[in-house]
Amino acid sequence: MTTPTDTCTPALLDRLAAAERLWLFLDYDGTLADFAATPEYVEPDPDVVGLVARLAASERIRVAVISGRRLDHVQKLLPVPGILLAGAYGVELQTPTGDRIDRVPYSTIRPTLDLIKPRWEKLIAGREGFFLEDKGWALALHARFADDVTAQRVLVAANRIVSQTPSLKTGRFRLLGGHKFMEIGPSLGNKGLAVEYILENAPWPDALPVYLGDDDKDEEAFRVVKGRGGVAIVIANAPRATAADCRLASPQAARWWLERVLARFEET
Ligand SMILES: [Mg+2]
Repeated sequence: MTTPTDTCTPALLDRLAAAERLWLFLDYDGTLADFAATPEYVEPDPDVVGLVARLAASERIRVAVISGRRLDHVQKLLPVPGILLAGAYGVELQTPTGDRIDRVPYSTIRPTLDLIKPRWEKLIAGREGFFLEDKGWALALHARFADDVTAQRVLVAANRIVSQTPSLKTGRFRLLGGHKFMEIGPSLGNKGLAVEYILENAPWPDALPVYLGDDDKDEEAFRVVKGRGGVAIVIANAPRATAADCRLASPQAARWWLERVLARFEET
């Protein structure tokens, strides 16, 4: 199901097939699966689960899924043994053997979020089109269904609330922006830092790191993977500025491409 907008060449597949091993880093929403109607939707997609399970079963492939969602949601979406799962952009991890790692003490993060949460709740109370997602490690304010003018006004006010919170000056937190979106969470919640952490703590000699992702948080990881001689692929339906090597048009195209990688590995 290749489309004219896909720019990943057969030569790239050859490069992957020639690798002894692949360390495969995958984003979830917008990369493996289409965006859910709401962030609270956590029904596993059988196509995604099946594909990830088959990738993970290859002795030459290790899989890590790195999501901005909370880890318990990622666990529900991908009930696949033997893979590494990272939630909150890599703050909370589940290792392939099922151990849980929190890279920051929860107690250093949550009290600040508990100061911000009621103020954000009050800000959006009674307004159409807003949704406050409590990820435990982070708070995300979604304004996707609000009108543009109101969304802009509310996000400016939400930003002001954050900047008035004294612990924000410790460097322990980062504020993420986006289209009709704002999120406050730990500074270590960074997919680039997550990939570095995984590669350093779970080294796999001669493995080629490959990262597939769709948004600006993934771009941070693209740069890390590229810096280590790896391959970055952006999932986007139109050309855009990116550090990635090439582009696949949709999660369907990404899944199809991963099937081809698997097929090449199985034949060699
Ligand atoms: Mg995504």
